[in-house]
Amino acid sequence: MPTPVEDRASHQSGESLPKLELSFEFFPPKSDEAEARFWRTIRRLAPLEPRFVSVTYGAGGSTRERTLSMVTRVKADTGVNAAAHLTCVGASRAEVDAVIRSYRDAGINQIVALRGDPAEGIDRPFVPHPQGYQNAADLVAGIHRWGDFDISVAAYPEKHPQSANWDEEIDNLKRKLDAGANRAITQMFFDNADYWRLLERAQRAGIEAPIVPGIQPIHNFQQISRFAGKCGAKIPAWLADRFEGLEDDEETHALVAAGIAAEQVFELLDHGVREFHIFTMNRSALAYALARVLGRRGE
Ligand code: FAD
Repeated sequence: MPTPVEDRASHQSGESLPKLELSFEFFPPKSDEAEARFWRTIRRLAPLEPRFVSVTYGAGGSTRERTLSMVTRVKADTGVNAAAHLTCVGASRAEVDAVIRSYRDAGINQIVALRGDPAEGIDRPFVPHPQGYQNAADLVAGIHRWGDFDISVAAYPEKHPQSANWDEEIDNLKRKLDAGANRAITQMFFDNADYWRLLERAQRAGIEAPIVPGIQPIHNFQQISRFAGKCGAKIPAWLADRFEGLEDDEETHALVAAGIAAEQVFELLDHGVREFHIFTMNRSALAYALARVLGRRGE
């Protein structure tokens, strides 16, 4: 759990940065062109020695084979630890267990365990498969039956849209961690105050596992806004203001995005955060720049 201000980073005085843990999230590419970009990005980010690179699991398990093949190849080709995302929505326990075994047999021992969203849409009520895992906490317990996995789960600085209130939200997070998850990784957020409040609530509930901030560099403001809206993350007015009118000005858009992401991580760093999970959207430029300002070198 990050400590307050006395643990401030010394980057402003020019001293070296503290030791940080970075992880990068990717999604499985769908076309040859997207796959080429995926590998270019992996090759650029792998030398930055991330703790792991993770590959998402498409809605309703739609990328089952591709997720497995990508994580396996990332590990084999780059030597970087690869984490596979896994959801339990719309699948029986037997089907999910088969995926867990295939990860294990491929030498993948890191899983990001999630409930997932209904295929009909993220805003539809979640109904577990009749023979399936009930939710992410149940899935975490299930994964442990198949081997010694390092497991991450999701956390929500602005509350999951389907949690009735914060007590329910934190109880659910605690259940996932108590079931044996090693850490939580947050949904994207742009107002650090939401993250601090989540940490305080978690601390009050006795949660000791790390809650790693998920950082979303804004490659394309329109796209990220749409995505944020779907997953219940708000876009503050100041953020929209900074990108207003930059739709056709790629270069300035990228500079503004880099500035905003750096501002966010440095404020977190100043308050003692030492672990960051960066959503790359399979693009290297902003993730790489962010890692550089955090003191990583890719030689
Ligand atoms: P849980 O923690 O199980 O539950 C979330 C909410 O649903 C809570 O409010 C809980 O009370 C409620 N709930 C749980 N079980 C039930 C139930 N049986 N009945 C009614 N309500 C219930 N999605 C993907 O499809 N693929 C990915 O690869 C992926 N990666 C992600 C990575 C990160 C870092 C994050 C933050 C999210 C990711 N997601 C991914 C999105 C995630 O699947 C959704 O946010 C989903 O809505 C909730 O998943 P969870 O694991 O947080 O669910």
